[in-house]
Amino acid sequence: MLKIEHLTKKYGDKIAVDDLSLTVEDGKICAFIGHNGAGKTTTLKAIAGIINFDNGKISINDIDIQSDPLKAKLQMAYLPDNPDLYEHLKGIEYLNFIADVFNLSVEERKKNIEEYAKRLEIYKDLIDPISSYSHGMKQKLALVSALIHKPKLLLLDEPFVGLDPISSHQFKMILQELADSGATIFYSTHVLDVAEKICSDVAIIKQGKLIVYDTMEKVKGMSSLEDIFLELENEKHD
Ligand code: ATP
Repeated sequence: MLKIEHLTKKYGDKIAVDDLSLTVEDGKICAFIGHNGAGKTTTLKAIAGIINFDNGKISINDIDIQSDPLKAKLQMAYLPDNPDLYEHLKGIEYLNFIADVFNLSVEERKKNIEEYAKRLEIYKDLIDPISSYSHGMKQKLALVSALIHKPKLLLLDEPFVGLDPISSHQFKMILQELADSGATIFYSTHVLDVAEKICSDVAIIKQGKLIVYDTMEKVKGMSSLEDIFLELENEKHD
């Protein structure tokens, strides 16, 4: 479970995230949507323990990210929108490095790497250096690295960008399986039609403030998520 209480983050005088509170329960997939610069990445980085914040409290399965960051980080995987991979390593070396960080046994890492890399069609490329990968291949490798310790909380920034249709389909199934096994998934996206299909919940942020947080069904009603989002965005021009 992810619990955010009154999160506020400022950059100088600019309030990037303004008193944001939400709780995403186990087994839920929550889309985090908002215009460019709304505060999505800042929120994700605060949850991941990468940036400090000015006010509020964030806990992952009741573990506070500020007072117990190592324990909290062991529960989660965070995939930024433009992950920095060590390009001089081969794919398999990078995955083993991540597996070492999370203290995975040889059997566990082998099983999970095989499962996810095969499903995302990157398995045979793992023997090649990352520097030779295409953009989409790097994204797939980063996704596998986020999945290998089967995190209880998966934080993703625009995870579908760069994926081909087959891998994208596989990744949607993987997310659903993780959620079914009790994991919490919170991801930012601009791809609203995918979010509408796979997410149980949706949070909408506008100029740093959370303006909507509810089940997908309730938020979109008889409409589409895109229509609702555009309506909410246009309200500022009224
Ligand atoms: P996008 O959809 O474009 O990725 P976002 O919703 O992820 O946008 P953030 O990256 O969280 O938005 O940015 C929120 C606000 O904070 C923006 O006004 C941005 O200019 C500002 N901001 C983000 N990072 C910094 C930083 N390191 N220094 C100063 N301002 C920042």
